[in-house]
Amino acid sequence: MKSERILAVGSVALDSVETPFGKVKDTLGGSASFFGAAARFFAPVSLVAVVGEDFPKKHLRLLEKCGVDIGGIETARGKTFRWRGFYDYDLNNARTLKTELNVFQSFKPRLSPEHRASRIVFLANIDPDIQRAVLDQVRNPSLVACDTMNYWIEHKKKSLLKLLARVDIFLCNDSEARELSGEYNLIKAARGILARGPRLALIKKGEHGVLCFSQNSLFSVPAYLLEKIFDPTGAGDSFAGGFLGYVSKSPNLSERVVRRAVIYGTVLASYNVESFSLSRLARLTPAEIAGRYKEFQKLTRF
Ligand code: AMP
Repeated sequence: MKSERILAVGSVALDSVETPFGKVKDTLGGSASFFGAAARFFAPVSLVAVVGEDFPKKHLRLLEKCGVDIGGIETARGKTFRWRGFYDYDLNNARTLKTELNVFQSFKPRLSPEHRASRIVFLANIDPDIQRAVLDQVRNPSLVACDTMNYWIEHKKKSLLKLLARVDIFLCNDSEARELSGEYNLIKAARGILARGPRLALIKKGEHGVLCFSQNSLFSVPAYLLEKIFDPTGAGDSFAGGFLGYVSKSPNLSERVVRRAVIYGTVLASYNVESFSLSRLARLTPAEIAGRYKEFQKLTRF
């Protein structure tokens, strides 16, 4: 089945990350980058973002080599968005040491006519004002998904709640679901999120997997069991890439499609955490994705 193009806005960043297994400085990261590198296996992807003059051209070339349309990534005067994070042996929780918005602070996205015609939109983690500015310009979206993080729940909650009323699918991790809804229990938190508009709420729990809620269904999936985990950065975004990529091939959000999409999301996230930055996703193959999907079926069938 032919896939619709996915338009995604989000951060394209320089990440400095330390995990118990190593550290990297100013490496390619950002929610849109990880999303694009994962979703491109299922559908054509166009990114909307901004980078500074200091952004190495080789990073743009890598995204391009992955087949991602980078025509909507502007270069502005100033410095690229930077994120510095740290993980200890509990790899489920990133500790943000520093967030520098830099060129994203004054970013006013202006979509090309082609991008305005997109039907499937992913609002990857970035300022909800920017997410809304992109959505406002898309003429007739048929499916809108959105991710966020604690930084935006703390700084821009009102804007985020306005956005929630306009999205079909909302993704976040467990601590963000709790913070956004004010509910500790994740069933209640998901209910609170669904009451604000989305048809689906996907709550990611790191190595403990994902919960997928709709008004009348719940699907719970463990993470793929790995011996080698290097860096969890971007796991959420690559999950979203696999999930929405698979959904984009299908005209509806049937239970069967959604459940399979959750497994594809889980598979893409599992590959991403095997290396720093986008290294693993960049050399991933469709055969590897299919192989791990099958392994996952064996792991969870009873
Ligand atoms: P994830 O691990 O999937 O939640 O996302 C990690 C990516 O999010 C990193 O590559 C960061 O550059 C990016 N990131 C971190 N903080 C923010 C923020 N406040 N807004 C947008 N992107 C961010």
